[in-house]
Amino acid sequence: MSERKILLLGTGGTIAGKAQDAAQAVGYRAAEIGVAELIGGLLGIKALEGVMVEAVQLAQVDSKDMNWSIWRSLLAQCLSAMDDPQVHAIVITHGTDTLEETGWFLAALLEARKPVVLTCAMRPATALLSDGPQNLLDSLCVAASGGRPGVWFVAAGKVFAAESVQKVHPYRLDAFSSYELGVCGFVEEQTVRWCSAGMPPRMPVPLHDASSGRAVQVPVASASSLFDLEALPWVEVVFSAALADGRQVEALVAAGVRGIVVAGSGNASVHEQLEAALSEARKRGVWVWYASRCLEGVPVAGRCLGPAISESDHQALAIGLVPSKARIAMMLGLVAREAG
Ligand code: ASP
Repeated sequence: MSERKILLLGTGGTIAGKAQDAAQAVGYRAAEIGVAELIGGLLGIKALEGVMVEAVQLAQVDSKDMNWSIWRSLLAQCLSAMDDPQVHAIVITHGTDTLEETGWFLAALLEARKPVVLTCAMRPATALLSDGPQNLLDSLCVAASGGRPGVWFVAAGKVFAAESVQKVHPYRLDAFSSYELGVCGFVEEQTVRWCSAGMPPRMPVPLHDASSGRAVQVPVASASSLFDLEALPWVEVVFSAALADGRQVEALVAAGVRGIVVAGSGNASVHEQLEAALSEARKRGVWVWYASRCLEGVPVAGRCLGPAISESDHQALAIGLVPSKARIAMMLGLVAREAG
């Protein structure tokens, strides 16, 4: 069998973290160990026979500090690997904290004709029972097994679609979920058992246009239009809750925010005082999308977009993404709008 080349891109995170002693699973420093060292211990494993790993240290950050320049290089590396016939698949090591955003970003922009697999760890590499080596091995197995193009996320023996996965626990090893969309597969003893067919489920059509009452696709910028940008447009998430008011929105608008994703309560409902400020923001050209702060489901837009939202206002849309992902979707949507 000819060698399958996997491009391994290291970005940091706890998987590359170091603690003072082996008993520490918190209180460590993320992003300390190079990705070539992380892979070192795995290469003799039988399941990886015939696999050649090229390790590239793309960045070395705690993913809480993920930034546009890293995303841009990650995108560039993935795009060029997609076109390189030598590369069979891509594996990316990443911190757990913002993995759900990077996963959505890559899933939205890559036409993944090969497997792209993100992975991470909840415990540092120096822990007594570190989960990083197993997660990395499982990811390489998913990548090497081929036949499943798409952007995946692998941890704790489970495979998820990167576009829908979320971190749902701050400490336990099994810390990720796609809620209703579920697990796409399992990795057991280096064998991948898929439980969904084909490509990762595409994101549910996430926008509901209040004026037409119809579902529309999130406009997403093309990958090539992003490389010259110094930053993505400024978008923030605001939270609707008991006792909410409009001051946060007013301050954001005064400071030049381009878009706001509202993490609404329940069916994306919004406190009347916050809604009044959002309505003013929309009049000033700020994009406003309504997501839900509920952990499962998506806003049922017909019910959540009430009379507070003008019938003719195309900028007010309910979105079937969790607020963290909706924020990135809106940034890309704003770029697409500017380009078009
Ligand atoms: N703060 C770390 C990071 O996101 C947490 C982790 O990787 O588990 O990089």
